[in-house]
Amino acid sequence: MLPRVLSLGMRRGPLTRRRGTLRGGFSLDWEEILSEIKKKIQSGLPGTDLHPLYDRSHLPPDHSDVVIVGGGVLGLSVAYWLKKLEKQRDALRVLVVERDLTYSRASSALSLGGIHQQFSLPENIHLSLFSASFLRNINEHLAVVDAPPLDLQFNPLGYLWLASEKNAAAMENNVKVQRQEGAKVCLMSPDQLRNKFPWINTEGVALASYGMEDEGWFDPWCLLQGLRRKVESMGVLFCQGEVTRFVSSSNLMLTKNEKEVKMKRIYEVHVKMDNSLEYQPVECALVINAAGAWSSHIAALAGIGKGPPNTLQGTKLPVEPRKRYVYVWHCPQGPGLESPLVADTSGTYFRREGLGGNYLGGRSPTEEEEPDPGNLEVDNDFFQDKVWPHLAQRVPAFETLKVQNAWAGYYDYNTFDQNGVLGPHPLVVNMFFATGFSGHGLQQAPGVGRAVAEMILEGRCQTINLDPFLFSRFYLGEKIQEDNII
Ligand SMILES: Cc1cc2nc3c(=O)[nH]c(=O)nc-3n(C[C@H](O)[C@H](O)[C@H](O)COP(=O)(O)OP(=O)(O)OC[C@H]3O[C@@H](n4cnc5c(N)ncnc54)[C@H](O)[C@@H]3O)c2cc1C
Repeated sequence: MLPRVLSLGMRRGPLTRRRGTLRGGFSLDWEEILSEIKKKIQSGLPGTDLHPLYDRSHLPPDHSDVVIVGGGVLGLSVAYWLKKLEKQRDALRVLVVERDLTYSRASSALSLGGIHQQFSLPENIHLSLFSASFLRNINEHLAVVDAPPLDLQFNPLGYLWLASEKNAAAMENNVKVQRQEGAKVCLMSPDQLRNKFPWINTEGVALASYGMEDEGWFDPWCLLQGLRRKVESMGVLFCQGEVTRFVSSSNLMLTKNEKEVKMKRIYEVHVKMDNSLEYQPVECALVINAAGAWSSHIAALAGIGKGPPNTLQGTKLPVEPRKRYVYVWHCPQGPGLESPLVADTSGTYFRREGLGGNYLGGRSPTEEEEPDPGNLEVDNDFFQDKVWPHLAQRVPAFETLKVQNAWAGYYDYNTFDQNGVLGPHPLVVNMFFATGFSGHGLQQAPGVGRAVAEMILEGRCQTINLDPFLFSRFYLGEKIQEDNII
């Protein structure tokens, strides 16, 4: 305490004892007092930040070059790469609008943090390889001066995919592609599987593929907060509020075959402030739709999908919230510390959770079983009827498991082909997408953010060509098939 008192006492202010004052008396430094008063008056004049009757610090700015709707991993990753790749420091003003800074329903916070390379599409493999390298060097990318380093708690235990007789040939082909693209994956016969993982019942398994590098799981919250901390340090602004409206201008253009099309450009975003009816207009040049499971609502606000059926204007963004349950159970006799993430032939998956004999897992429901996405309540019968039987069949020790906990979250589910959507909309020309990753968006966020930033700053993807993920595929009916989505 003493040093603080001393330093306070020593500070030179208008009322401190001045050097040279005779007989130890105090004299007022009128010049300094007057200059303080002048400063206060000046800061209250119009055009300055101070509004004595109204605190504006929670409001977004009046202008921002880029407005990112959604502060989950995808929105933050786009913000990060825009600032990282901008040609000149502070060239771009970037604002992230997030309606819930507790992220209570955001997929990023409720996800399992898994990363693997065992996709069938080269683009997805490249994205995950890029992310693996990003995560390995997380403290080079996301270091902030005077802040502690991030600890992602990475568990490098790999994914083990199991294939039935019917899917074995496809698995073999996919592994060929994965290896060609640089992933370290091996194939295992049922015998090899039993040798390596004696707790597995190989009945119904014809082939398995196992990731030997760059696979496992990490703490998604740590990545989310690390990105947030970093982008704020780079000058990105945050605002808690909900995007409720876009104001756009439009132009009629003629296509090659003389058809008229209306091109729109958003020039103002309305942000409804938290717990208030008040909204704030933000002028902008670009909007990034990174609203996850809610991104089709944001697209609709911009008029996307509001034209006649079977036209580009009438093509909706096919992303919707789909509820997914995660169950946590205790099973001391379970597979143990070396257990990878197992993706079973039935679609059921599980992995170890922590070190105390706990596991977590679940299964994506079939179309007919899809639960009501109106709330995030957990259906415990789904575990009993649809998950546990498969778990116990694959790992007999799970016969005696005890469920301890469960939660539900939303997949940002692309109903067209379960792959991400990125890049500009062809008609609302300054709305860019980074959404629709349907259960693999967390692991792909670092690469997707970079690709979107490159499209904005360079006009096209430079690092990984992600053109197949453009919006136009929905209108053209060009599905991109990915086999390995959990
Ligand atoms: C149970 C579960 C397990 C998963 N496991 C994995 C996994 O192991 N590996 C993996 O890679 N992926 C996984 N995922 C998928 C992954 O979590 C998502 O693909 C990814 O987090 C999507 O990130 P996002 O930023 O687009 O969405 P979100 O994190 O949902 O962020 C979108 C944000 O937009 C905000 N928002 C929406 N509308 C508005 C508005 N109008 N105004 C302002 N803000 C708005 C929301 O509040 C939200 O915070 C899982 C998902 C779930 C649900």
